[in-house]
Amino acid sequence: MSTLLLKNADMLVTMDATRREIAGGGVFIRDNVIEAVGAVHELPSGADEVIDLAGHVLMPGLINTHHHMYQSLTRAIPAAQDAELFDWLQALYPIWAHLTPEMIRVSTQTAMAELILSGCTTSSDHLYIYPNGCRLDDAIEAAREIGMRFTATRGSMSVGQSQGGLPPDSVVEKEDDILRDTRRLIETYHDASRHSMLHIAVAPCSPFSVSRELMRESAVLAREYGVRLHTHLAENVKDVSYSLEKFGMTPAEYAESLGWTGNDVWHAHCVQLDDAGINLFARSGTGVAHCPCSNMRLASGIAPIPKMREAGVPVGLGVDGSASNDGAHMLGEARQAMLLARVGFGQSAMNARQALEIATLGGARVLGRDDIGAIAPGMSADCVAFATDSVGMAGGAVHDAVAALIFCASPQVAYSVINGRVVVSAGKLTTVDLPAVVQRHNALAQQLAALARAAEAP
Ligand SMILES: [Zn+2]
Repeated sequence: MSTLLLKNADMLVTMDATRREIAGGGVFIRDNVIEAVGAVHELPSGADEVIDLAGHVLMPGLINTHHHMYQSLTRAIPAAQDAELFDWLQALYPIWAHLTPEMIRVSTQTAMAELILSGCTTSSDHLYIYPNGCRLDDAIEAAREIGMRFTATRGSMSVGQSQGGLPPDSVVEKEDDILRDTRRLIETYHDASRHSMLHIAVAPCSPFSVSRELMRESAVLAREYGVRLHTHLAENVKDVSYSLEKFGMTPAEYAESLGWTGNDVWHAHCVQLDDAGINLFARSGTGVAHCPCSNMRLASGIAPIPKMREAGVPVGLGVDGSASNDGAHMLGEARQAMLLARVGFGQSAMNARQALEIATLGGARVLGRDDIGAIAPGMSADCVAFATDSVGMAGGAVHDAVAALIFCASPQVAYSVINGRVVVSAGKLTTVDLPAVVQRHNALAQQLAALARAAEAP
């Protein structure tokens, strides 16, 4: 048994049922669970470890619902800098074909470090390419080491170019192998208990890279085990055209026809989800991972998030893969969600607190969790603190420190507690040697590009 007291925060944002914000608030944590929340006089006066958060805003850890962490190795690749989705993918697939298990492990750790320092405590990752002996186990190992709460999704691609799909044949897998490995991963790793640090989800990459049969069988398999389903859907207009031409249905109709709607499913992007699709998602409780930076980077459009939320669709936030959003900052993503909503739908489309709600409670719902996303007794002990005395917050935090976190330039966390463990202290990661990880990551990124160049050479 160990206890941790976070006290004296200038403002504590709870995201609890009444959205309390408590000046001078704190949190008392026993092991990995929040035991008490409130002003100083409402909390025990001591604990095994005490952190004084005067000059900080304390809030629930942010939740990232969509990522491809291996893509940290291929940020800002010149050939993919200015492309839209399909051309972007075709520029990158041949490079990704040279990934190795070490590259998966180190890039996952790099991406998680970046996320944690930006306020994220739970992330999903969508790994859908497994060349050269790469396994989802490599990503899981990285998450355990750094101490991040994780939804690892077993992605897949099975329809290569020779079958009318988008990816080259060299990076697709056989469908029987995909399903067998997915079963193995669920049976080995999925922990459905409250405060679980690891969920497995089933995640064929997209309708344009797997077959109808794999989509259907994946849904059956996921429900057999009670795990969640995840894929990309209706990302841009070409994605919709592909669906109409190939399947004679909109992406939402296609998803429904395969069993891919329900409160155990979340789809990334949904930028081009039509009104019928929004109603279907709302009725069925199907979730959406909104990725505003990636949508801007690839010129995919503006997802109708206010309309979705109005209709009752569960919406979480995703930074998306590091090659289509080269700056994975979770608080920054919430800022972009607010700004982009205003570009698309007007000044009142989203405010700062709504953006924070999507990044916390929204993400928890989309990942099927009721033990994270808020600071309240009985919740998992995932809390982050941002300093309010930085130059970037100057003149903002004094008026409304909570809103300033979204309106001002996005800061890094000063403290992060994940599952009761202090993972960031005074701005420094405590669980891994970050400079060494980044150095190795950069060497591997160069190696990956060199392998791709060598394979292309005549
Ligand atoms: Zn994605």
